[in-house]
Amino acid sequence: MKVKQRVLSFLWRKDVEIIDTLGNWFKCKRCSEIWSPNFLTGGRQPRGYWQCPQGCNKEEEQLERSKRIRLVRPIVGRS
Ligand SMILES: [Zn+2]
Repeated sequence: MKVKQRVLSFLWRKDVEIIDTLGNWFKCKRCSEIWSPNFLTGGRQPRGYWQCPQGCNKEEEQLERSKRIRLVRPIVGRS
């Protein structure tokens, strides 16, 4: 799966980073949990694939929308 810049920015805001070049392994920047979402056929991401198994960034969707997020350029995923 090729990681798109748009996806990287999204994950960055969720405190999630991609730790491999293919984008199969995710890491939570809050608790350092590492997980790999089970991608669907065709490389589509399942709903909530970006959520930390520990729930660190869960249900922050609403909150994130209402506050101003400072965008930081991700360091991984360049192709
Ligand atoms: Zn976490």
